[in-house]
Amino acid sequence: MTGDSKPLFTKVALLGIGLIGSSMAHAMRRAGLAAHIAGYARTKETLERAARIGFANSLHDDVAACVRDADLVVLASPVGSFATLAKAIAPYLARGSILSDVGSVKTAVVRDVGPHVPEGVHFIPAHPIAGTEESGPDAGFAELFDGRWCILTPPPGTDAAAIEKLRTYWRRMGSEVDVMDPKHHDIVLAITSHVPHLIAYNIVGTADDLETVTKSEVIKYSAGGFRDFTRIAASDPTMWRDVFLNNREAVLEVLGRFGEDLSLLQRAIRWGDGDALFNLFTRTRAIRRSIIDAGQDSATPNFGRNRPKPD
Ligand code: NAP
Repeated sequence: MTGDSKPLFTKVALLGIGLIGSSMAHAMRRAGLAAHIAGYARTKETLERAARIGFANSLHDDVAACVRDADLVVLASPVGSFATLAKAIAPYLARGSILSDVGSVKTAVVRDVGPHVPEGVHFIPAHPIAGTEESGPDAGFAELFDGRWCILTPPPGTDAAAIEKLRTYWRRMGSEVDVMDPKHHDIVLAITSHVPHLIAYNIVGTADDLETVTKSEVIKYSAGGFRDFTRIAASDPTMWRDVFLNNREAVLEVLGRFGEDLSLLQRAIRWGDGDALFNLFTRTRAIRRSIIDAGQDSATPNFGRNRPKPD
């Protein structure tokens, strides 16, 4: 991963320097991937924080200055901001450069960004399947992408050399890379990430409503299962609002199936059908095992985090 003295890009412009943008900057520095890393954010607070951490060579509150002369530009802000950003940077994108993103949905990115991409710029949407519930420039770290998948969704006809270059870039930041159709990406991510987040937001919301009935007991006696949901439900509200607004069809499709399966479980509990419950729980345990075997999570109890106190 490290080594290889020649930078792959002369200037990489990161539009958004929160968890993902700053992690990319750290990972790029670790691998020596860019001669110059430029970062953009809207607020003084974010820019000052990033300046103090020092992961970028230049920081900007002006998108034009950030992307000028960049041979790779990455949209790394909430998905809902991509259309406005793409329109603003279009006149300044260099011919032959690559325009990419890290958005958690892909069909909407193609829809929102695609029309603004100038002739001669290679547009290759991407999604690193890596993250934490933290946000902002302080949350980033170089190892975030190590061993995680990054999915590229290039439109048909995209220059093969440009795809290969972006693939190399993500590999050298530690990721494994796959290429997928955007629609397929969105349905896969709806089931593996978006709907699980929605379930976490929902159950924590329900518990919060119950809280008014049970006073502080929901928090005081919160068991491991609930605590894990609260971790997921602490994820950035802006980012996740934009994910659900922009992956509507796939999320609704998966939620429909989820509702049907939940009704079956409800029925099994009502009718005392222990076999149905036992069979499902055995199947799901095997899935957990295969995720660990694939190196996508740790088998350490409590998901590898420090156990604060016994329940
Ligand atoms: P984050 O930590 O909240 O950072 C967002 C960055 O974008 C900040 O620098 C923020 O700075 C800037 N920003 C916010 N609103 C903006 C706007 N309207 N226009 C321009 N810039 C804006 O978010 P993140 O977790 O890095 O997520 C960034 C992207 O990565 C999202 O598209 C998300 O879908 C994707 N992603 C996230 C994860 C994850 O687990 N978090 C995983 C994979 C992909 P200012 O507020 O100062 O402008």
